[in-house]
Amino acid sequence: MKAALILGTQLLERHPAFDDDEIDELFLVESAALFDRLPYHQHKIVLVLSAMRHMVDRLEREGRTVRTVRLGDGLSFAEGVTRLIERHGAEGIAWMRAADRGVDRRIDRIAARAGMRTRRWADRAFLTPEPELDAWFRDHPRARMEDFYRWQRQRTGILMEGESPAGGRWNYDVDNREPLPKGGIDIPPVPRREPDAITLEVIDEVRERFPDHPGDARDFWLPVTHEDARAWLGAFVDERLPEFGRFEDAMAADEPVLFHSVLTPSLNLGLLTPHDVVDAVLEASGDVPLPSLEGFVRQVIGWREYMRGMYRAHPELDGANALGLTRELEPWWYTGDGIPDELPVPVRTVLERVLRHGYAHHIERLMVLGNWFLLEGYAPASVNRWFLSLFVDAYEWVMVPNVFGMSQFADGGMVGTKPYVSGGAYLQRMGRWWPSARAAKESAFTDGYWDFLQRHEAVLKGNPRLALPLAQMRARREPER
Ligand code: FAD
Repeated sequence: MKAALILGTQLLERHPAFDDDEIDELFLVESAALFDRLPYHQHKIVLVLSAMRHMVDRLEREGRTVRTVRLGDGLSFAEGVTRLIERHGAEGIAWMRAADRGVDRRIDRIAARAGMRTRRWADRAFLTPEPELDAWFRDHPRARMEDFYRWQRQRTGILMEGESPAGGRWNYDVDNREPLPKGGIDIPPVPRREPDAITLEVIDEVRERFPDHPGDARDFWLPVTHEDARAWLGAFVDERLPEFGRFEDAMAADEPVLFHSVLTPSLNLGLLTPHDVVDAVLEASGDVPLPSLEGFVRQVIGWREYMRGMYRAHPELDGANALGLTRELEPWWYTGDGIPDELPVPVRTVLERVLRHGYAHHIERLMVLGNWFLLEGYAPASVNRWFLSLFVDAYEWVMVPNVFGMSQFADGGMVGTKPYVSGGAYLQRMGRWWPSARAAKESAFTDGYWDFLQRHEAVLKGNPRLALPLAQMRARREPER
């Protein structure tokens, strides 16, 4: 008997195992050790477990032979796979290459111990074939996202008119920086679906087994089947995509999602593929302003694939700490108990949001949380652990380049060309967090910003993009001399 191992982050509707005639049985393992490793948000555990169990249910209804290890069996991943191999007498095992480093080798070792043959399929959860991706990064040691993105547009023909970019420009980012209008704007909510029997059972199990983990499993809000993920994508494309571009960088104290898609929980589990997303978006393209269309496509075919490439090309990103920061995140970042009164209002608001939903949109991750972590001198590894635990869409391949690279400048400027830090004025412009511009200017963000530039002047001084802020910082310092 030959088995295919379906990993919990590879729940693809068209998983390569399904049309491989050599495969007799499908194995899915819920690893207790994995869920116990970090204080994961309850919604993240419900998401993964419920999506896996819906997949099993679907495959069984299709008449396939599925063998599972459940969380309640209390086994590690290796123990679970070994048990299935031994119990069901597998002679060979196949799986789709994993996005996180080390997973393929771990499965190789398990198979070697069981003395069986192995086979791997290429990863279908991304747009760019691995050999092409790796070759691009090999050829571009200073790999900039904008160059990667243009290559990706040319390679795929997405939003291209012959050799030229659709509309004549590659990038409409400058059109995508509006705050929400002062008079307010209608923001269509994300779809709401009552949990079915499978999800309800998982919610009970998670509450019982992980009672001290952040979040409340009963408020679970995300799609867990291919059908629901597709409906979620459809609602985004019809209702929110047209305004995505304009308000991509906007923030609002009372609105967690705005015009973002919240597609990562589905994409990163394989419930949707980037092909599904790009197809749906391009189909609607006639009704969507080009800056929104291009802005969104850039995230999916550009940023997402670029981050994967960076992760593959630069293992040293994991654990990097160019600024030598050492502070550990305090326990209240995980529990919400005893949040200090002096925590600036944007940080408190976004933290409370993350503790509740396991989600914040990009600009809040980068310019509220990431910015604050940098200004306060938190260690990048501590920050990474927090994001990995709290966010419903966080997995190693995407966290490492986003946290160590883009957000915490721990790579010294490989992913981003300068640290994403700002004072209160920028946050106020994009989110109106404080009652007045003056309050924003006098906030801890502004003080922290100047302190940051001063503290790290020696590392940052050669950076041309920081020449002006550093000059301003020095001018502020002069009178004190
Ligand atoms: P939208 O704003 O609607 O964007 C559309 C899609 O573009 C996303 O679904 C995602 O697939 C892709 N995308 C956009 N930016 C990125 C990026 N920088 N890296 C990878 N994909 C991108 N993304 C994760 O998938 N998991 C994470 O754990 C994660 N953690 C992050 C932590 C920090 C500090 C920062 C700065 C960014 C992080 N990101 C992460 C990237 C990005 O913030 C999220 O992909 C995005 O906010 C997810 O929400 P959305 O689906 O509503 O995205």
